[in-house]
Amino acid sequence: MQNLIASKPQKLKIDKPDDYFFSTDHHMPSQRYEVEGDDHIMTSIDTPMRSDAFDKSDDQKISEIEQHFAQIMDILGLDRSDDSLKGTPYRVAKMYVKEIFSGLNPVNKPDIKLFDNKYKYNEMLVEKDITFYSNCEYHFVPIIGKAHIAYISGGKVIGLSKLNRIVQYYAKRPQVQERLTIQIAEEIKKAVQTEDVAVVIEATHLCVSSRGVQDITSSTVTSSYSGKFMDESKKSEFLKYI
Ligand SMILES: [Zn+2]
Repeated sequence: MQNLIASKPQKLKIDKPDDYFFSTDHHMPSQRYEVEGDDHIMTSIDTPMRSDAFDKSDDQKISEIEQHFAQIMDILGLDRSDDSLKGTPYRVAKMYVKEIFSGLNPVNKPDIKLFDNKYKYNEMLVEKDITFYSNCEYHFVPIIGKAHIAYISGGKVIGLSKLNRIVQYYAKRPQVQERLTIQIAEEIKKAVQTEDVAVVIEATHLCVSSRGVQDITSSTVTSSYSGKFMDESKKSEFLKYI
């Protein structure tokens, strides 16, 4: 069990290199950050991680995030002695580490077991409408979407639930939709040992619908096609199914 909240707001002890996140540099181009965030520009295919990302245990992370989140609530002026807010810092911290950002930790990566393609099924296999919940890395608010996946077996097949698990693993990170699409596609290529993979993702970003431009009807579609799916006829066959 984690110790719950301290009764009084505590001063945070910030060790190096965490204080990187608490820069008090007043020259920080905050306006530029807002614009970049709303434009959702992806910088790299790998989730940018620090080399010491897993030096701390999950329990340590939960306990530190709990303290930091309590501070955020204090700054916002919320009364944490209120019954409904009392456990919030702990709940948020545990949810971050164990649920919505659990896909940052490679130990949570699904184990992939391959089977021989005994039936010699050589057509595309499509797994569609895989619902996922992710979070936008620019705003830390939800991305809700569906992933559609297809691959053509090159001799090996994968359990259907594993395709779903791969989606969930990469969704449980702070994400950019383009990166999520590519990460899923690359993982499936590796898992099924074929280049013939297609991934289409359609998603609603709550940072677009609930704030910013407040567009509640738009959704974003991203795709990745490789191998035989570069071929127009294969691509359109796949798109017909989804
Ligand atoms: Zn966003």
